[in-house]
Amino acid sequence: MPSDKPKKPLYPKSHIVAASGIAAALSFILLVIPTTDVEARKTFVQLDLDASSSENVSLVVPAQFDALIDKSVTHSAPIQQSTTPLPLAVAVEDAIETRAAEPAPEWTSVTVESGNTLSVLFNRVGLSANTLHAVINSSDEARRFTRLNVGQVLDFKLDEEGNLLALRTKISDLETLRIDHAEEGYVFNKDVIEPEVRTSFAQGTINSSLFMAAQNAGMSHNLTMQMANIFGYDVDFARDIRQGDTFEVMYEELHVGDRTVGTNNILAARFTNRGKTFTAVRYTDSNGYASYYRADGTSLRKAFIRTPVEFARISSRFNPNRRHPVLNRIRAHNGVDYAAPTGTPIKATGDGRVVHVGRKGGYGNTVVVQHGQRYQTLYAHMSRYANNLSVGSHVSQGQIIGYVGMTGLATGPHLHYEFQVNGRHVDPLGIQLPASDPVPANERSAFLAISNRMMAGLDQQGNTQLAQLEQ
Ligand SMILES: [Zn+2]
Repeated sequence: MPSDKPKKPLYPKSHIVAASGIAAALSFILLVIPTTDVEARKTFVQLDLDASSSENVSLVVPAQFDALIDKSVTHSAPIQQSTTPLPLAVAVEDAIETRAAEPAPEWTSVTVESGNTLSVLFNRVGLSANTLHAVINSSDEARRFTRLNVGQVLDFKLDEEGNLLALRTKISDLETLRIDHAEEGYVFNKDVIEPEVRTSFAQGTINSSLFMAAQNAGMSHNLTMQMANIFGYDVDFARDIRQGDTFEVMYEELHVGDRTVGTNNILAARFTNRGKTFTAVRYTDSNGYASYYRADGTSLRKAFIRTPVEFARISSRFNPNRRHPVLNRIRAHNGVDYAAPTGTPIKATGDGRVVHVGRKGGYGNTVVVQHGQRYQTLYAHMSRYANNLSVGSHVSQGQIIGYVGMTGLATGPHLHYEFQVNGRHVDPLGIQLPASDPVPANERSAFLAISNRMMAGLDQQGNTQLAQLEQ
């Protein structure tokens, strides 16, 4: 059922806010909603996407996509970093090359078991305590070999007399530590693999929860959170999600050889909530600042988040005729009070410049932020300020500027938050929040070229998968 009725801005929308708030809410949903079948699939598609050149982005789905899909990988679980050691693909190749050149010593592999120390492992391959000391004292970095995890594999290369020539261990999908014997002793080295970035696609239909659907689509937790953050200004993931909502995501996936070792940024996404579709395209402007925009180039972000403190209770609303709890007389309450424990972080609700940090009469410890020409926000009764915050500091949306307290005229710890437009107090819970800046006018055509290709890519990917499902 489409919901096209206009948003009523008169109620607190504290839930619109911050990533972690959404995260907590989503996790909660995941816990309370029973699992049901979710139709969601994910395929790997290599798209020719050159992120470094915005002029030449080509997002053409290969004609041979049908062939690709046969080899596609369908995940039933989220991609996770493996905790067990993986074959030393790159290093093994080296070894093979060496062997091909001339007969060379073989590698001996030892797997770390519970309680093993490096000394135990050296002993197992017949190396002396002297060699161990020579290795770990050869450099500070060499001591990293002493930090062992169960299941980790150490490869030793010994000469015919049993002397250590080399030692190596893979500590992640992308990093291998090495010790090599040299004339002057042992030398530490590190092999870092630069992963290949591919474009991947995932889509899903929500039956129970966003998390279940995303998981079934093969999306990592990180990607799911990115998507929730991107659309979090428009969709209340805690309350608006309905069965039948759909999403399509194009994102960067990191590969080493045939293995997926992680994911990076979402490049484009579409989310349909109760019949209304929201789009997002990642675009890096000429200043190098990356942000998400709607397909038409307007910003997905709002210039302000609604609530400066998470999980706080509104203890007093904006009210021009309030009886003041301390002064006990009618005095306008020009802001909103959020009751929260002393020390709760307070966030700047928008990007801006700090124009006041310090005591301010009954407000106690107060920070005032100027946002462009028209807007000003005020945060009062703080117990303390964020480190390094001073007049002139630039703050970004969501940045912690201080902590809840009860300095000044306050009966208990709370944040008093004010919002001014052109010097006039307005109800922070009632105003229509302005959108952030759109794509700069002089970059609009470049953006639209990318955006159109991205959206076409999502269409084609989705249709191909749909056709595949219906076969
Ligand atoms: Zn107040």
